Amino acid sequence: MKRLFANAMILAWEGENFRLIRNGYLGIENDSICYIGSDRPVETYDEERDFSGKLLMPGLINCHCHAAMVLLRGVGSDLPLDRWLYEEMFPVEARLTAEQISAGNALAMMEMIASGVTSFSDMYMEPETAILLNKDIGMKMNLTRVVQSFDPNERAEDSSRISESIALFESQHNAQNGKIRIDFSIHAEYTITECIVRGYVERIRPYLSKGARMHLHLSETEKEHRECIERHRLTPAQWFDSLGVFDLPTAAAYCVWVTEEDLRVMLRKGVYPIHNPSSNLKLGSGFAPIPKMLDMGLMVALGTDGAASNNNLNMFEEMHLASIIHNGYHRNPVIMTPETVLKMATIHGARLQGRNDTGSLEVGKKADIIAVHFSDRAHMLPAFDPINMLVYSAQSSDVCMTMVDGQILYENGKYLTLDTDKVLKDARCAIQSLYGIKNGFRIRRKLHGTCRSGISVHASI
Ligand SMILES: [Zn+2]
Repeated sequence: MKRLFANAMILAWEGENFRLIRNGYLGIENDSICYIGSDRPVETYDEERDFSGKLLMPGLINCHCHAAMVLLRGVGSDLPLDRWLYEEMFPVEARLTAEQISAGNALAMMEMIASGVTSFSDMYMEPETAILLNKDIGMKMNLTRVVQSFDPNERAEDSSRISESIALFESQHNAQNGKIRIDFSIHAEYTITECIVRGYVERIRPYLSKGARMHLHLSETEKEHRECIERHRLTPAQWFDSLGVFDLPTAAAYCVWVTEEDLRVMLRKGVYPIHNPSSNLKLGSGFAPIPKMLDMGLMVALGTDGAASNNNLNMFEEMHLASIIHNGYHRNPVIMTPETVLKMATIHGARLQGRNDTGSLEVGKKADIIAVHFSDRAHMLPAFDPINMLVYSAQSSDVCMTMVDGQILYENGKYLTLDTDKVLKDARCAIQSLYGIKNGFRIRRKLHGTCRSGISVHASI
């Protein structure tokens, strides 16, 4: 099957930069891009579509998410981080069933597809539910079975989480034509013991040659960072490095409190920091030193985090925040450029996920493409500089097509691989059974008895 998208603005990629084609043609053969140019191709195509007034760009890559946490959207809002986590998140998560998580995953995928996300990296329980859903839905995802341990006497060989994360890698890595990738994962320094980290690294090191990668949380809050130094006389980044974790290509979410020495270690080891501006701002974690990281040459990517600390999975909003908050913080309006932010949301994300065949519009790459309305939106006129417009003006609702591997998942408000009525009905059922309420409206009540009685932390994430 050969498709031609005609008369489009195209955000192509050349060398290591974007190249904007004002009125161009993009050809797709099966799952890959076969032509990009400003002249009409001479070959014939089975189908041609007119994309006048629309911009074609690479699909957005949400590099740090807890997708099913859409079911906890709005729970515990406006509480201090510790209370939000221990009193509101953990008790609800301790009650989550696989069926509810599946409903949450479908709801999250529905939200992400409509806002132009073609691939995401997730860190949550029951990843098998997302794999099953994706047989029909068709996104790309890097999933994990997260390892954590609170028992100082637990040994790696007894950790069911370690065995499960390895079993998941062996059975599902590169499944569904490579759409599914499995990453190894450690939740964070404060939720694991040194003995478990050492044992985990030893057991997963042989998988490096099969494309194994690591996904973890790093120095999100000042308290986490300080307490790690008190415990280990090392920062979280230096502690993980000393235990060999960074010998795997590592994606590190947040990195708000990292030091200059941490950044040097991360650069040396090729660690990818993931910027989560909404979450950092909502939870009051602080401002990650993103301009410094970029300046040093670190490959920074972008993510939404879970909806509970955001409250949505909107990568356009993350791009906007990533572009402006650092200008304000540094009192420098050019410290972040729209081109850099777009790279963070696309090509850097693809590299972080180990997906070198996507993340940019180039001949030979997978057709992971989104289309964005430009001509008939009040907030998009005039569009003197489309790259600036994408970051500063565009809304996620401007996305009018989402395509993965040449398959259209979403077009003009309609989902082609997902039954929206069923997804919404299942999500409402999950919310009702989880909170004992109807229609998604919750009467605020105490949820945290279970947490203090000890169920929570061990069951979380
Ligand atoms: Zn997170």
